[in-house]
Amino acid sequence: LPLLARKNAGANVKVVVRVRAFLPREIKRNAECLIEMDPESQSTTLHPPSSSSSSSSSGTTTTRKVMEPKTFTFDHSYDSHSPPSPTYAAQSHIYDTLGEEFLDHNFEGYHTCIFAYGQTGSGKSYTMMGTPSHPGLIPRTCEDLFSRINEAENECPNISYKVKVSYFEVYNEHVRDLLVAPKIDSSGPYYLKIRESPTEGPYVKDLTEVPVHSLDEILRLMRTGDGNRTVASTKMNDTSSRSHAVFTIMLKQIYHDFETEQTTERSSRIRLVDLAGSERAKSTEATGVRLREGSNINKSLTTLGRVIAALADPKKNNRGGTGVVPYRDSILTWLLKDSLGGNSKTAMIACVGPSDYEETLSTLRYADQAK
Ligand code: ADP
Repeated sequence: LPLLARKNAGANVKVVVRVRAFLPREIKRNAECLIEMDPESQSTTLHPPSSSSSSSSSGTTTTRKVMEPKTFTFDHSYDSHSPPSPTYAAQSHIYDTLGEEFLDHNFEGYHTCIFAYGQTGSGKSYTMMGTPSHPGLIPRTCEDLFSRINEAENECPNISYKVKVSYFEVYNEHVRDLLVAPKIDSSGPYYLKIRESPTEGPYVKDLTEVPVHSLDEILRLMRTGDGNRTVASTKMNDTSSRSHAVFTIMLKQIYHDFETEQTTERSSRIRLVDLAGSERAKSTEATGVRLREGSNINKSLTTLGRVIAALADPKKNNRGGTGVVPYRDSILTWLLKDSLGGNSKTAMIACVGPSDYEETLSTLRYADQAK
């Protein structure tokens, strides 16, 4: 097995943006596409809606903010807006240019984390899960994982693999296990406790971890988890867009040296995270439960942005830097501490709709400050 001591090999944080196609309702209202991407420079430009340039009101002097086009550069700008265009980024393209590289890192022994960020309806689930006819990053990662395992086990009698899966969601700073049917009774939903181990760091106590041996098994668990997420949220009268869903694949590579009779093991974790809709974070009309929910989502997303930015900027990184990475400020970042920073690789996929100026600007700014 290649050596593990490769602490600073390559950049540890990638930030990419993906714009989706128009939805039927956007086509119906003749929405205009405000996003332009340059495949050469990987830049994304957001144009103000053309209606904003028409003079606004009724004869009196108006002070209107002049909206300028805004350009940001990312590691990738994925144009999934117009399917016939030659630069169209299909699901397979996202996997080939991002997912596959992350799986390579897992086989090299790194923990990885891929987040989908954006407002509800911007394409996060489509990017992570996808649809049966257009599978996203999670099913493609699982498929590639098992095809690599099968190939390696067939070629090398001294290598074997163990794979386990867990799936949980973080809702209102609480953790729900998605691999067990939701237990919600009159005393409210059932949450798991968070513990900290001196060796392993923070973890979810009693979280279900299922050993899997094939692509079919893992896909079945993925669907079970998605089903439980929907059931739990329907029972609680909310929608899944208010929780962060964390799908984790634990990969153990076992190498047996027949000469020395020694066994070497290497473990890595693959985290694939569909974040809560970012629009909740800003909602001003919310009160009571919704307000608390909104401020908790806000807290997780802001903390995550700060953690990623701290990791991307070595001066702020706790490894030799002066700043402290604020993992503890939200349950999500605390639980993902092992997969963020240190010997791990992180990617943030900022998902945007094509015709929503304000929300898109806020998503692009979030992604930009995470770089
Ligand atoms: P979110 O998870 O951010 O709420 P979804 O993934 O559910 O958003 O996407 C909203 C809608 O847009 C869905 O109907 C989805 O199928 C569609 N969609 C999202 N991204 C794309 C894309 N890249 N190409 C085609 N359709 C997409």
